[in-house]
Amino acid sequence: MFSSPIEVLSNYYGYKSFRRGQESIIESIVNKKDVVAIMPTGGGKSICYQIPAMMFDGLTIVVSPLISLMKDQVDALRETGIPASYINSSLTPKQYGNVLNGIRNDEFKLLYVAPERLLNEDFINLVVDKNVSQVAIDEAHCVSQWGHDFRSSYREIPRFIEVLREKPVITAFTATASNEVREDIEKLLLLKNPDHFITGFDRENLKINIVKNSDKRKYLLDYISKHKDESGIIYAATRKEVEKIHDLLDKRGVSVSRYHAGLSNKERTENQNGFIKDDISVMVATNAFGMGIDKPNIRWVMHFNMPQSIENYYQEIGRAGRDGDPSECTLLFTAGDVHIQKYLIDIGVDEPKRKLHQHKKLQDMIDLVYSNSCYRKNLLAYFGEEYDHECENCSNCLTAGQVVDKTLEAQKVISCVCRMKRPYGITTIVDVLRGSKNKKTLSFGFDKLSTYSIMKDYSAEDLKSFVNTLVSHGYLDLVESLGAGGRGSFPTIKLNEISFEILKGNVKVEFKEDLVTEAIEVKDELFEILRSLRKTIAEAQGVPPYIVFGDATLKNMAAKLPTSEEKMLEISGVGHVKYEKYGRQFEEAIREYLASNM
Ligand code: ADP
Repeated sequence: MFSSPIEVLSNYYGYKSFRRGQESIIESIVNKKDVVAIMPTGGGKSICYQIPAMMFDGLTIVVSPLISLMKDQVDALRETGIPASYINSSLTPKQYGNVLNGIRNDEFKLLYVAPERLLNEDFINLVVDKNVSQVAIDEAHCVSQWGHDFRSSYREIPRFIEVLREKPVITAFTATASNEVREDIEKLLLLKNPDHFITGFDRENLKINIVKNSDKRKYLLDYISKHKDESGIIYAATRKEVEKIHDLLDKRGVSVSRYHAGLSNKERTENQNGFIKDDISVMVATNAFGMGIDKPNIRWVMHFNMPQSIENYYQEIGRAGRDGDPSECTLLFTAGDVHIQKYLIDIGVDEPKRKLHQHKKLQDMIDLVYSNSCYRKNLLAYFGEEYDHECENCSNCLTAGQVVDKTLEAQKVISCVCRMKRPYGITTIVDVLRGSKNKKTLSFGFDKLSTYSIMKDYSAEDLKSFVNTLVSHGYLDLVESLGAGGRGSFPTIKLNEISFEILKGNVKVEFKEDLVTEAIEVKDELFEILRSLRKTIAEAQGVPPYIVFGDATLKNMAAKLPTSEEKMLEISGVGHVKYEKYGRQFEEAIREYLASNM
């Protein structure tokens, strides 16, 4: 048995210090207190229940909905020398029998169980007589209807706990912090007077970019050309959009794969594995992708469309940079995204109260996008956290010095819309401003307007983007208007109160220029050598590369050049068991590199 959490951390995981919040959460659990811990994705929740599991007598049962993750989590634990196993629907009857035998013989310290398997008779009969010291509930928000991933099987967890002979310590972990969800977790999972931890939602290593610019395709291609060797995810709102982006990148020779609910299970699994194993750099996906992704070296996440809520957005960007290294999150926004998401809510949610709730969440997301102050501050405020300075790591903070005055251009657009009298779509307005001689413009007499052709120096694409940006800032409204003869409806531009204030010169229009940043990763020859050694080892073992060692660990090795056991164990991420398994191979690679370069 271990006497202190830090001893377990260092011996098994090879980490030298705790992350924010971990130590106090572990202390409560070790003192047998029930715990509700809210930590951001990538904050390091697993260690909080795994270390107490190693310090307690008996077994810790981890309830998790993430079946696809369980095998990797268990493999990762075994790699560090912690005896663990899992029960879910992917096991054959024989494998299941083996796990039950293992439980019977007290072979495991941690057992991951899918919630719908908890009440299986064989399983229950076996564990009632065992010393279950802790039940850790991962993704605990799944118990709540207010969460975004409600699972009815989570409601069975209390029945399972009540069957146990002695009440174990119950620990609940989630990244979702809303008050309704928090209350549900406590009430529905039978936590007894729990200690609460909210470790802070900030993920300092994530750079937050929101780009209000309509030429998404161009931005995307530019971005990819600078980041194509890094691991990244592109989220799009619909399957069709995913397919389009995937084809676009595939044709350009980018190492890309795709994931959405329209693909077969087999294809989804293959694509996901290719990404996890670093065979594929870029994954294009709908929000169906990610719940089962624990890959720590995702360097960037791009949202090609705005997500439906801040919770979704924060969870999705949270998948970047779990290893703590600098990573970048970019949201490409145009006014059209609002329409897509409103439509998806309208067709996807039946229950009126829930629909209203979703629309409200969407509005919060839109407000975030429109805001002109530090995005991090706004995001954290949404989660109830105060952040008392500017982050200097988001696009609002970083481009503060490059504000451009666009009042005159805005006045030209507004005055043109005003003179066109009725609401028209963006394309028609842009045609008039650029002096098009097409049939519609001429037959409606728009060429007689004083605003005809006053922005002819703009390309159609740029001008559309500019009008969209005016809409996204709320300087113009986008409304649905009926088509000719009352058939169908289409989005049109209308003036609002602010438009008139701009026209009168009472409101200034200032935009920030958006820049595409360069790749974060600096190529390092030794790092690449170590990476390729890691890949060979991982393939031989049939596990994802990050389970052998994380990127941060390899970078640390490439910087500190350890060639002895003592020095190797000083590297964060190298524990005793892993050292025994792989340490010498990495030492050897470093020695060879030094010999050929010194
Ligand atoms: P989440 O909160 O999303 O469940 P994880 O538990 O998967 O996060 O942890 C994310 C990553 O951070 C993992 O690769 C994990 O090994 C690493 N990690 C966790 N705690 C520490 C620590 N104290 N020092 C270094 N890395 C850590």
